[in-house]
Amino acid sequence: YFRGLEQQGIKLNRSQIDAVREVSGPLLILAGAGTGKTSVLVCRTGYLLRVEQVAPQNILLMTFTKKAADEMKERIASLQDVEKRQAIQVEVRTFHSFFLQILRHSGYRHEMVTNDKFKQIILKKKMRELGLADEIQPESVLSLLSFYKMNGKTIKNMPEKSQADKEIKQLAAFYEQWKKENNKLDFDDVLTEAFSLLKHDERLLKTLQQRFQYVMVDEFQDTNPLQYELIKLIVAPQNNLCVVGDDDQTIYAFQGAKNDIILNFDRQYPEVKTVVLTINYRSTSPIVGLGNAVIRQNKERKEKQLQSTRKSSVVPIYFRPWSTDEEAEWIAEEIRRKVNEGGSQFKDIAILHRTASNSRAIFEQLALDEIPFFDYGMGGHFFYEHSSVSPVLAYMRLALNPLDWHAFETILPTLYIQRESGMQQVHAEQIRNPRQCLIDHLVVMRSLKPYQLKSIEQKRKLLQQLPSLEPKEAVMRIRRQFFDKYLETNDRQTDTTQKESMKEQLDELEASANRFEKLADMLNFIKDMKLRHEQMKNVANDPEADVVKLMTIHKSKGLEFPVVFFIGASEGIVPHVTAIDVKKYEDMKLKITAEAEQFKALEEERRLAYVAITRAKEELYISSPVFYRGKKIEVSRFIKDVFTLEEKTTTLNRTGKVRESSMEKRKVYAWICTSSNCIAWQRIESHEEAVQLSKNCPLCSSPMEKGEKHV
Ligand code: ATP
Ligand code: MG
Repeated sequence: YFRGLEQQGIKLNRSQIDAVREVSGPLLILAGAGTGKTSVLVCRTGYLLRVEQVAPQNILLMTFTKKAADEMKERIASLQDVEKRQAIQVEVRTFHSFFLQILRHSGYRHEMVTNDKFKQIILKKKMRELGLADEIQPESVLSLLSFYKMNGKTIKNMPEKSQADKEIKQLAAFYEQWKKENNKLDFDDVLTEAFSLLKHDERLLKTLQQRFQYVMVDEFQDTNPLQYELIKLIVAPQNNLCVVGDDDQTIYAFQGAKNDIILNFDRQYPEVKTVVLTINYRSTSPIVGLGNAVIRQNKERKEKQLQSTRKSSVVPIYFRPWSTDEEAEWIAEEIRRKVNEGGSQFKDIAILHRTASNSRAIFEQLALDEIPFFDYGMGGHFFYEHSSVSPVLAYMRLALNPLDWHAFETILPTLYIQRESGMQQVHAEQIRNPRQCLIDHLVVMRSLKPYQLKSIEQKRKLLQQLPSLEPKEAVMRIRRQFFDKYLETNDRQTDTTQKESMKEQLDELEASANRFEKLADMLNFIKDMKLRHEQMKNVANDPEADVVKLMTIHKSKGLEFPVVFFIGASEGIVPHVTAIDVKKYEDMKLKITAEAEQFKALEEERRLAYVAITRAKEELYISSPVFYRGKKIEVSRFIKDVFTLEEKTTTLNRTGKVRESSMEKRKVYAWICTSSNCIAWQRIESHEEAVQLSKNCPLCSSPMEKGEKHV
C-alpha cells in the first residue's frame, strides 16, 4: 500500500506511516501546522479500505466545514489503489450534516433556521413587544445562548444578576420557545437534540456504534464540549477513534471550542497512543521559522518546534503602509506584478483578513484594478449594507434625491415612524403632490406625536445641510445625530462587543468617505461596488478558477496557498481590539476575572496570527497599516514580539536601503531592513525625509546604517 502511495508521489515519513497503521483503539495525532495531519487521515482511510478490508460504510470522517469535507472526499477518491466505488461510500461529514441526518432518520421533520438575520428579526420583534430597550442586540442573545448550549448547559444556567442579564435570558427563552412552537431547529439544536436522542434511545446508539467502527476527526482542536460528548458516545465501546489537531490552531474558543479537550485527551482515554509529527512539508523555512517564533510566545500550549524541509531564500515581506487604502493599493500592485512577471497565477494567491469589515478597502481595490477575485465572505454582508451603515447612506441618498423611495423607506424607523404606515401616508400624499420631498409629506400625518414631529424637523434640517458637505463630514454629522450618544453610553450592561462592531462599521465608513470630494461620487462608487458584489454571488465557487481568494483567517483554517497576504497585522486589528481591552467587553463572556479573560483572548488572537502565517507555502506578505480608521496604531505585538526576541538570540545581517517604488505616481522612498526573517520597509515621502528620519527599522527598531549611501 505504501509503495503504491509513493508511486503516486505521496511519500509518507516514518511517524506518518505509524499513524496510518495504528487502526485500533484511540489515537491522537497532535502536531503543528502543515505537518500532514489531514494527509494522514486521507491515507489512513485508504489503508482501512485497502489493507484492513474495512467496508467503506463503517468509516466516518468528521471535519468542520463542507469545503474541507468535499476536499477530503476528493483526495480519498484520488488514491490510486483504492476503488472509486468504495471511496465515495465513506462518510466524510461535518458535525452538523452528520447529526442532522441522524435526526431525520429518527423522524425529525423540523424545518432548519439557518439564516441569522431572520433569527435576529424574530427577536427584535419580541423586544419591541416587550418594550425592551434597543440596547440589547439580538446577536448577543443568540451567541450567548449558543455558548451555553455548546458547553452542555441550558438557559437555566444563564446569569440573572443584572437587569440586562434578565432581559437576555428572557429573550433567549422566547427564542427557544418560538422554535419549539414552530417546529424549527437551528444548528445548535441539531447537536443538542442528537445528544438527548442518543442518550435516550439505546437501540439507535447501538446501531450507530456498530456501523461506525472507525471514526476520525480532523481539526479536533476546535471541537466544543457537546461535539466531544457526541463523538465519545458513537465510538464506544471499541473506541477506534483517531483525532488529529494542533492546539496552536484553536481559533473558535469564542464559539465554545475548548483547547483542553485535545490537551486532556489522554485523560479521557488512558490507553491512547500518541503520534507527534514535526516536519512541516507545506512552507519554506523562513515561513516556518516565523510561525515558530510567533507561536512560541503563547504560554498555554504543548511545546513543539516545527522543522522545515524546504529551504528557500525568499523571506517573508513586511510592509507598513499609511492606511488600509494604501495597503490595498500596494497589494493590488504586487499581485499584478507577480502575475505579469509570470511567476504566479491569480489562484495561487490568498488575502487573509481578521473581520468582515476589514476587507472593505481590499475588496474595492481589487474590483477597481480588475483583478479577478472571489470573496469568501459573500455569505455575509456587503459592507455598505451593514445595519449601521445603510441608514447613513440612505440619508445621503435622500439628501441628493428627495424623491428616492428606497432611501426614504430605510430612514423611516429613525423618525420613530413605522415603515408601513409611513409609506402608506406618503404614497397617498405623493399622488396629490408628486414633486414634493418625500419627508415633507409626513408632516401632515394626523396621528403624529410631538417627539415624532420634533424628530422629523431635525432630520429635515439635516437633509438640507448634507448636499453642501464633503462626504466625510456628512457621515460624521449623521453619525453624531444617530449613533454617538448610544455608542458612548455605558449605563447598562449591554453587549459592548456589538457596540464595538457598530463603531467599527461607522469608522470604516468614515475612512471610505474620506476618499471622495462629493457625495454623488461616493454614492456612485458604492453603486458600482454593489454591482460587483452581486456579480460575485453568481460566480460559482470553483476551486480551480483563476481568481485571487479573499477570506477571513478563520475561514482559511486547514487550507494552503503558494502566496499569502496577511493584512492588518496591527494592534486593534490582530490582536482585535476586543482582546486588548476585555475589561470593557467582559459582559459578553462568561464571568472569569477580566485579566484571565484578556490573557485567553490574546492567546487566541496570537493563534490566529499563527494560522494566517502557516497557510503560506512559498511567499508570505505581512502588512500593518499605520493609520486605521483615522487613528494611529502600532505594529501588532505578535510581529513586534518576534523581532525583539530574534534580536537577542541571533546576530542579524541587516542592510539598510532606500527603495523607490512605483506604487504611486509621486516618488516614494522606503527604508529597507533585511534580516534573516524579514524585509521591512517603511514609506517615506521624500528623499530629504529619508535622510533625516531616524534610521531605525520600523519592525525591530535596530539601527540601520546612515543616510545617503542607502539611496
Ligand atoms: P494544517 O495544520 O494546516 O491543517 P496539516 O497538518 O493538516 O495542516 P496537510 O494539509 O495534510 O497538513 O499537509 C500540508 C502539505 O504537506 C500538503 O501540501 C501535503 O500534500 C504535504 N505533505 C504532507 N505529508 C507529506 C510528506 N510526507 N511528504 C511530502 N509532502 C507532504
Ligand atoms: Mg489539516
